[in-house]
Amino acid sequence: MNAPESTPSAVSFGPPSRTLMGPGPSNVAPRVLEALARPTVGHLDPTFVGLMDDVKGLLQKTFRTDYPVTMPVSGPGTAGMQACVSNLVEPGDTVVVAVNGVFGGRLADMVRRVGGEAVVVEDAWGGPVDPSKIEAALDAHPNAKMVAFVHAETSTGAASDAAAIAAIARAHDCLTLVDTVTSLAGIPLEVGEWQLDAVYSGTQKCLSAPPGLSPVCFSPRAIDAIQARKTPVPSWFLDVSLVLGYWGDGAQRTYHHTAPINMIYALHESLIALHEEGLESAWARHRAQHERLRDGLDSLGLRLVVDAEHRLPQLNAVAIPDGVDDATVRRRLLDEHQLEIGAGLGPMAGKIWRIGLMGHTAREENVERAIRALGSVLQ
Ligand code: PLP
Repeated sequence: MNAPESTPSAVSFGPPSRTLMGPGPSNVAPRVLEALARPTVGHLDPTFVGLMDDVKGLLQKTFRTDYPVTMPVSGPGTAGMQACVSNLVEPGDTVVVAVNGVFGGRLADMVRRVGGEAVVVEDAWGGPVDPSKIEAALDAHPNAKMVAFVHAETSTGAASDAAAIAAIARAHDCLTLVDTVTSLAGIPLEVGEWQLDAVYSGTQKCLSAPPGLSPVCFSPRAIDAIQARKTPVPSWFLDVSLVLGYWGDGAQRTYHHTAPINMIYALHESLIALHEEGLESAWARHRAQHERLRDGLDSLGLRLVVDAEHRLPQLNAVAIPDGVDDATVRRRLLDEHQLEIGAGLGPMAGKIWRIGLMGHTAREENVERAIRALGSVLQ
């Protein structure tokens, strides 16, 4: 083997200090970064096992559920998505999948890849999932096992009515698989009250921890369905029954994989910070900062593309004005103002910017900075 032509840098990496106002990751609070740097202990160290119990309890409080199977999957949001799909979908299962943006499309793809039949229910990008279309799909497919949908579509900035969709699914004796990657801690999410079944999220959005863990929870109904499988879960790593040997209740925790110890410190610290503030106060803060941003954008003549009723406060899709070059503006914001905003995806590429106000980023000073920076770049 030849040596690479270029010599890798031998100097430690010094990342710039950016204001992260894209679709995630969001800025990580200093106390969470400090927790990340604490000494690593063993993954079966008694002190760490105690911390795991605290993380589970705090996640239940955040998801607002008492589901015993609540834990962080080791991996980003996509790992949680894969865990839910791989555990609950068997070859031949029919799953109604709502697609109103990129992440619904990814769910449908995952369902097919594990051998399920995805009945895709499409809605316009930028709008919510229409519950009546889900009902019609379930009427047309009485054998459906589950309804999968995204609560907060990060690719467009639209929120869907998770409670209504879940009630329809239950009335058809179906489970629900729900993406809460962007909704958790940013808008009201009531996993227990809405009786959601397989729910996954991510650490890098409104929880403001670094990317790398995916909090999940499964209802007792979902666990029954997993235990009734006729075929083994196709992923050894994500098989919930095996992972529970490590994360489950009980005195005897056994090795499954080496948990990302320091990331769990970070998640724990971010959850403590969230509950010191109060979950409902955090929802209110996201809304208040969204309103501040909306008014600022309005003063610059910029328009939000999602109807007010369905807008996510934490992800603001802004129409790029005619004649303005998308990439140039984003690059100048980054170079001149240390400010990251997101581009549009798929059919919305080049048409929208996505301005995130997630977690620790959702503060007045950041909104003011973003409006000033956009104003100066657009002039
Ligand atoms: N689902 C939604 C709604 C998302 O916004 C994202 C990431 O942006 C994901 C899933 C995937 O998460 P990750 O990129 O952490 O794997």
